[in-house]
Parts: sequence; structure tokens; C-alpha cells
Amino acid sequence: MSEQQQAAPKNFIRQIIDADLASGKHTHIRTRFPPEPNGFLHIGHAKSIVLNFGIGEDYHGATNLRFDDTNPAKEEEAFVEAIKEDVRWLGYRWDELRFASDYFEQLYGYAVELIEKGLAYVCDLSPEQVREYRGTLTEPGRESPYRNRGVEENLDLFARMRAGEFEDGSRTLRAKIDMASPNMNMRDPALYRIRHGLVHHQTGDAWCIYPMYDFTHPISDAIEGITHSLCTLEFEDHRPLYDWVLDHISIGCHPQQIEFARLNLEYTVMSKRKLTQLVSEGHVSGWDDPRMPTIAGLRRRGYTPASIRSFCNAIGVTRSDSTVEMGVLENAIRSDLDASAPRRMAVLRPLRLVISNYPEGQVEKLQGPNHPKDAAMGSRELLFTREIYIDREDFREEANKKYKRLVLGKEVRLRNAYVIRADEVIRDAAGEITEIRCTYDPETLGRNPEGRKVRGVIHWVPAEQGIPVQVRLYDRLFRVPAPGREGDFLDDLNPDSLSILEEAVVEPSLRDVAPGERFQFEREGYFCRDPEDAADGRPVFNQIVSLRDSWGG
Ligand code: ATP
Ligand code: MG
Repeated sequence: MSEQQQAAPKNFIRQIIDADLASGKHTHIRTRFPPEPNGFLHIGHAKSIVLNFGIGEDYHGATNLRFDDTNPAKEEEAFVEAIKEDVRWLGYRWDELRFASDYFEQLYGYAVELIEKGLAYVCDLSPEQVREYRGTLTEPGRESPYRNRGVEENLDLFARMRAGEFEDGSRTLRAKIDMASPNMNMRDPALYRIRHGLVHHQTGDAWCIYPMYDFTHPISDAIEGITHSLCTLEFEDHRPLYDWVLDHISIGCHPQQIEFARLNLEYTVMSKRKLTQLVSEGHVSGWDDPRMPTIAGLRRRGYTPASIRSFCNAIGVTRSDSTVEMGVLENAIRSDLDASAPRRMAVLRPLRLVISNYPEGQVEKLQGPNHPKDAAMGSRELLFTREIYIDREDFREEANKKYKRLVLGKEVRLRNAYVIRADEVIRDAAGEITEIRCTYDPETLGRNPEGRKVRGVIHWVPAEQGIPVQVRLYDRLFRVPAPGREGDFLDDLNPDSLSILEEAVVEPSLRDVAPGERFQFEREGYFCRDPEDAADGRPVFNQIVSLRDSWGG
């Protein structure tokens, strides 16, 4: 695994595993990451991936990637491929690639075993009736009138369910547990339902009955020899059913389900239903829109796999739900890129500057270090010319001493180049400043000027050789920390989450940047070349993160 990654902290799950190894309960650890292929992975899934695969690696065990694909209505092959790509990109290799649908025949066999033991029955109640019979948290449920069907009849009906003789919703296979259990999940939960007319991405039309999650999951875990089945806290109430299923079939393996708190992040949403809606209704450009909390979005935005892994390790694994500030994720990428991203100059809102005493037509080759604190990263060539661009924000006609940039009549240093003085402002008919005339001091290359102090340093690019690009700046996708807390989450979308700068110009060394390459644009932030160009063919650079936390952190 990664270069600079610190060891994952010892969380309560790793303590359980340590104890299981010490006691001899297990000698080899096996975990799994079990996504449902009904959407793209998001940063919350990354927490589960880092936890499961991290344990597999650190304990020299193994981790399976298993698609939990028992609901073909919402699942697609395209999501399977996207999920595999994301897991690989995060830096992990699965031991085995599995699909819960690989086990449909075995699952059917275990269902038959439960029927034969008198522990499952075919129920003819409609979905509404099942709900009615289930009772409430304060009232016990009522037993289904079909609960005491004989084994032979149940076997026959279940076989005919499989054969396609019954309509959707007309029958279910249910476990016979306890309709009075205080745990609603134990009140004769459904094990199978009928779904006709669906084409499953793995099994095609071979099946018209599909096993429920609570039946499929423990058996899939056991078939694969998973030792520790890690899931989020909302499954705590399902654990008795997980154990019940394994206790009553002849499978000979009983993984331990352990729950942990899911990741919640401020200013975004993570439910797949909501993410799907953002995509399908066009609120974002796609699953990989750089504002999305998806792994594909974060990748396109310019996040590194190492930064996501270190974020997941930093937030830790506990059993108490909490919401993490977006700043924690941003700090993870900032500190990664501060160390690793080469420095470049990019002018986002250009203002032309003409150096009157610099020879016309002269192109001077200067050097700029790639990293101020890491000489090993080398340097790149800069082209200095009579006409350059600086940022509009870096010039004022008048300013007090706190403004350490260019002021009319005063001096400033151009980064990696000379000290200049602003002499004159040129305006267009509308009064807008279009150009600044300056003079430069030829004695100040790599040297302080004699007898005076120049405090400010600003960045620049050569006007002719600079490369026009499109720059996209991002703000949070939502305006509030908990979108949808009051009303529709779409009402909380931030209308200004994307700003497109069409005038930006970058230094000539950025001519042939590959998609995905990351840089610090000095004084502006960290940026990454987008895989797609602008409509007119200009390269696009996405802002990954600002240089500092501007949200008052
Ligand atoms: P959703 O409810 O949005 O559809 P899900 O939890 O059903 O998401 P799955 O594809 O079933 O999505 O999740 C695969 C694994 O990732 C599960 O083990 C799940 O517990 C874990 N997971 C999903 N979301 C989070 C999260 N926010 N934090 C930590 N783990 C998560
Ligand atoms: Mg799920």
C-alpha cells in the first residue's frame, strides 16, 4: 500500500480481531466489501472499503469484493464496472470477485432446508396484509393463517414459486421465528419474493424469485468463509436474524457481524437515492461531476487515492454516529498536495501589463523551482517578456500598507523574476482599466534591490506565450450543513457551486499536461487537468481545493 500512509489506528474492530487471533478462534482473517450495484460508490463507501481492505492487508488475510445483487430492478452492469474501477483506483486488490447471484442455487437449497426443518413457510398474505399482521413496536404481531402449512405443501408451493406459477406479490417465503419478538426483524421475515419480468445482469431471466438481503447476506458471508462481516449500525437490529439463519442451516461457518457508524459529511448527501436524483434530474453533470461526493467525482476533482485513505483513517471507526466537517476531507487533500504538487503560475482574471523599459521582442528564459521546500523536484523554464498578465486582484491604484501587491507608483516582485514599478494606468472608453504600464529593475533578478524593501510578490504569465485555458472553481454543492433537514434537499442546492473562468491563462510549461495531473497554482489553490476539454478545445482545469480553509476553520 501507499508510500506515506500511516498505519491504520487500532479501532474496536481490530481489537476484536486481535482477540480472535490470540484465542485461536481464527488463524486467517477474511473480510468483504459488499456493494449493491445500484449506483456509484461515494466517500461513505470509501470508509467501508478502507476498513475492510485495510484489515485484509494489515492482517495478511484476504478481502473479497462481493456484489450484493439481489434486486435486479435497480442494478446494472455499468455500476458493477464503475465500482470495480473505484476500488482499484483507491489502491486495493480484491482476493476474489463474487456476486451474491453466484449463490442463487445454493441459497435456494438452504431455503428448502429451512422448510424441511419446519422453519420456513410459504405465506399467501398480500404485502398490505403482511404489514398489518406484523404489529408495531408496542404491539406484538399476529401469526399468518398460512404459518402452519405442512412441510410437503410448503415444498411444493416454493418449487412452484420458482417455476413461475404465481404472480408478483401473491406469495412470499417467510422464516418461522416469533411474531411476538420485540425485534420486528424477527417477526417471520420474508426470505424470498416473486419478481417476474426482470433481466438480471448476471443471471438473466433464470429466476423469478429473489432472496432478501437478510437471508442472502449471512449465507454469502459463510460460503466465502468471511470471518468478520462489517456493516453499518442500522444493521444492528438485523444481527439476530443474521445469526438465526446461520444457526439453522447446515453450512458449518458462522461469520461474526460487527457494526460501525456510517460516515456522514456536512454540505453533501450520500444516500444513493438522492445522488441518483441529482444525476438523473441534471442538477450535476453526471456521477463524476467534480462536486459530487462520489469516488468518481472526487477523482475527477483531483483528489488522490492516498488523501481519501488518510481521511478514512483519520476519522476513525467507532459505534457512535457523527457528522464530519467537509474541512477534514479538504485538509487531507491539501496536506497531500502541499507536499507533492508542483508549483505553477496561472492568472485567473488577467490584466495586461507592459514593461516599457524591457526590449520589445525579447524572450528571456528564467527558472522557477517546482517546489519551494523540495529542491529534489527540480525546476521548470519560465518565459519572461515585455508584455505579461497579472491578476486583476493584484493591482490597485491606491492601497494602504497591508496590501502587499502592485499599487500605482509602487514596487512589487514578480515571482521568480524581476521587481517592477507601476507607472501608468490605461483605460478604455468605459473607464475600465485595460493595461498597466510599468518599468522593471534589471538588477533585481534573484536579488533584493539596493536600498529599498519590496515586500509583495505576485504571479504572472507571459502574454503571448501563455496558454488560454478554462478554469472551474467549485464551492460546496449545498448551502447548508445538513441538506434536506427542513424540506426537500434540492431546495438546499448551492446555486453558485460552480464558477467558470473563461479568461484564465497559464504558464507555457503547462502546454502538454495529461488529464488528472495536479498542480498548485501559486497563490490560487490546487488544480487538476480535467479529462475533457472546453467546447473550443481549450484545456480545462478544475480547482481541487483552496490553499487555505476559507470556511473559518
Ligand atoms: P444507500 O443506503 O445509500 O443505498 P447502501 O449502504 O445501501 O447505500 P451499499 O452498496 O449496500 O450501499 O453499501 C455497501 C457497503 O458500504 C455496506 O457494507 C455499507 O454498510 C457501506 N456503506 C454505505 N454507506 C456508508 C457510509 N456512509 N459510511 C460507511 N459505510 C457505508
Ligand atoms: Mg445496501
